[in-house]
Amino acid sequence: MKQRIKYCNVCKVDFPTMYRIQYKNPKEWVFVCEDCLLKVKINNSAYKYGGTWKK
Ligand SMILES: [Zn+2]
Repeated sequence: MKQRIKYCNVCKVDFPTMYRIQYKNPKEWVFVCEDCLLKVKINNSAYKYGGTWKK
């Protein structure tokens, strides 16, 4: 399977482990790093966890 580089949707940095989440409206799946995940999930009713993505 071909590897694709994913960048954090928030800080635009490439990480070896990304988290697939929804965190804003309109809801769409995005990838974020752990640091940004912890930031955007706080008091966020739109937050939804969709899995961990590793390279
Ligand atoms: Zn990030």
